[in-house]
Amino acid sequence: MKLFDVYPVYPIEPVKAKGSYIWDKDNNQYLDLYGGHAVISIGHSHPAYIETIKNQLEKIAFYSNSVEIPLQNILAEKLGKLSGYETYNLFLCNSGAEANENALKLASFKTNKSKVLAFKGGFHGRTSGAVAITDNAKIIAPFNSKHQVELVDWNDIEAAETALKQGDVCAVIAEGIQGLAGINLPEPNFFIGLHDLCKKYGALLILDEVQSGYGRTGKFFAHQHYGVIPDIITMAKGMGNGFPIGGIIINPTIEASYGLLGTTFGGNHLACAAAIAVLDVLESENLIQHAADLETKQNDLFKNTKGLKAIRNKGLMTGLEFEFPIKELRGKLVTEHKIFTGSSANPNTLRLLPPLCIEEKQLNFFKEKLDLALKNSNI
Ligand code: PLP
Repeated sequence: MKLFDVYPVYPIEPVKAKGSYIWDKDNNQYLDLYGGHAVISIGHSHPAYIETIKNQLEKIAFYSNSVEIPLQNILAEKLGKLSGYETYNLFLCNSGAEANENALKLASFKTNKSKVLAFKGGFHGRTSGAVAITDNAKIIAPFNSKHQVELVDWNDIEAAETALKQGDVCAVIAEGIQGLAGINLPEPNFFIGLHDLCKKYGALLILDEVQSGYGRTGKFFAHQHYGVIPDIITMAKGMGNGFPIGGIIINPTIEASYGLLGTTFGGNHLACAAAIAVLDVLESENLIQHAADLETKQNDLFKNTKGLKAIRNKGLMTGLEFEFPIKELRGKLVTEHKIFTGSSANPNTLRLLPPLCIEEKQLNFFKEKLDLALKNSNI
């Protein structure tokens, strides 16, 4: 059997990883400024993370949600404390798309409406509703296109109100910071404006923090930079540091009932152990503050880069927009300088999504190699 060929890949085979580094099968060392697509939060193969998962594996790895799993409560309590959402409730699932799918479903149940308002440039996943609200016609199959969706411009509060005025919208969904689009920050009052409009027109506000959450931006969730309190928050990626887990946190005014949401794997023992270890390390190593501290550092570091047009960032979620397409530059960085970076839907924007334990000296090393790559090329 062959693999269904949907991923273009670099010819690199990682076999080992530690902290912010990866090693390939020929023992080449790479600096990871991509974090496997914003997934690695506490660093690759953190010893406390390995130990917690190993210990759990030796006890019990999985049982379904038909029995008591106290690890889920421990996770919920720690997450509530660290995120500041102690009064909210947690539903656990397995991925970012699934988290968004459940959030949309819940908003539709709660409001008894079905249309979703989302934003141009947004990415929310590839399952039925999540892809339907994603701004990329190429990945929306006819089956997905049956959902009722309206996309308006990012930061355009008037367009959002025009859409909401119809009264048929169950949810407005926005990324805390648009990631795939190339790190597009919301204007300071955009989320507060959306929140007020949702209240006025009877819709729920969902913040997709799948990429921008879990400390990456220097606060637990990116929307917390903007003073808004959404109805539902979705998360995945950094939550398990590579172990598949996702979740949604839900305003307590939204009531649960048996069977309303559900999943076989969501909240299993191993996934909870991984997610608990992540929260423990985020806290004990002060990684969220570390991400915040590195924001200014990066601004200073990158500001005089050749051909750089703009830096868009919060914490360790960074977009470097150049005056030219970055495809060749990104290729050079990985093949010649052994540094992983990310691309984005904006062809001129390089995305940096490193593990939150990245050190200042590693960023300096990246800058040296970036300058070298820019100097020795005709880009
Ligand atoms: N939402 C955002 C903002 C994302 O960046 C992604 C993935 O890149 C998703 C949702 C989908 O997550 P997953 O790939 O885990 O389904």
